[in-house]
Amino acid sequence: MTNGPESVCRWCRRARPTRKACFYRITGLVLFSVYSSVEGFLCLRCATRQFALSTFHNLFLGWWGPWAFFLNLFSLVYNAVQWAGCLGLLFQRPGCR
Ligand SMILES: [Zn+2]
Repeated sequence: MTNGPESVCRWCRRARPTRKACFYRITGLVLFSVYSSVEGFLCLRCATRQFALSTFHNLFLGWWGPWAFFLNLFSLVYNAVQWAGCLGLLFQRPGCR
């Protein structure tokens, strides 16, 4: 995880301090699982939103399958670590690096 060379958020397209982050979403379908991710340089507001949406998704849909269960455990921890890394953006001012 590094601070982005970009200062434009991939999601909201606003000029704000950004950080590279990736949030996984796991959907368990009993016999198989589907996963997707939101990845890119995100501002803190968008990272928090994507973290919350991904956590909500995983908590309700991520448990329904043997592989999905373990992938979901990993993704819940991984997403939390990614979001915690983005909290450093609280101390950055726009335009400063
Ligand atoms: Zn944003």
